[in-house]
Amino acid sequence: MSVVASKFTGSGMTSDRTRARMVEALRSKGVKVERVLTVMGEVPRHVFVEEALQERAYEVDKALPIGHGQTISTPEIVAIMSSLLCEGALGIPKKVLEIGTGCGYQTAVLAKLSKEVYTVERIAPLMDRARRTLRDLRYFNIIFKHADGHFGYAGGGPYDGIIMTAAATRVPEELKQQLVVGGRLVLPVGKESESQKLTVIDRTAEGYTEKVVHDVRFVPLVPGIL
Ligand code: SAH
Repeated sequence: MSVVASKFTGSGMTSDRTRARMVEALRSKGVKVERVLTVMGEVPRHVFVEEALQERAYEVDKALPIGHGQTISTPEIVAIMSSLLCEGALGIPKKVLEIGTGCGYQTAVLAKLSKEVYTVERIAPLMDRARRTLRDLRYFNIIFKHADGHFGYAGGGPYDGIIMTAAATRVPEELKQQLVVGGRLVLPVGKESESQKLTVIDRTAEGYTEKVVHDVRFVPLVPGIL
């Protein structure tokens, strides 16, 4: 049995109806981009976490452990970041770069929103597991890179949108340069011990604009690969 088939059997907590409730909770928290809400109503988040945690997979504010000291981002933050990405000058981005694949849940949401997704992860076993999960779910528009995301991935660029799901102490210059004009970068900036700022950077014909939208808490962006 494939990973997905085995995970789909069993729990009633993992049904369409549970996902629909999650979407309503996101809406009541202020998420407005309909396409993001639709997609999040479709992606089976429970498949991305281990079986013992599946019943909690649709709680909007729960970051759950995925091994290697990392966490799956909460549905709320995935919704917020995906919405920000879709609200840039270009609308829903066609080509996206994600730094920090983790379990691959945000990757799946992006793969449904966009035509082409490049995703970079530094921890090989996490990347391999995400690759298997996403293949079992039949996503075929994702390109995986085992690399240090501090440098983005110039090979796939330039991108309409870039999203980083680990916190950098400062904005990596390479990521900005890998945006098309009109493109948007969404990332948490700050040290792990302090409040980090979810930051939106737009590339314009003249240069870059930057705004801070939220206080957030992410695992740190770590140099090097494992
Ligand atoms: N979107 C993921 C979030 C995982 S947590 C999810 O919902 O599962 C952040 C991820 O960023 C971790 O998997 C971590 O290994 C990865 N990461 C941290 N520093 C990185 C770097 N320099 N390059 C690429 N990935 C990195």
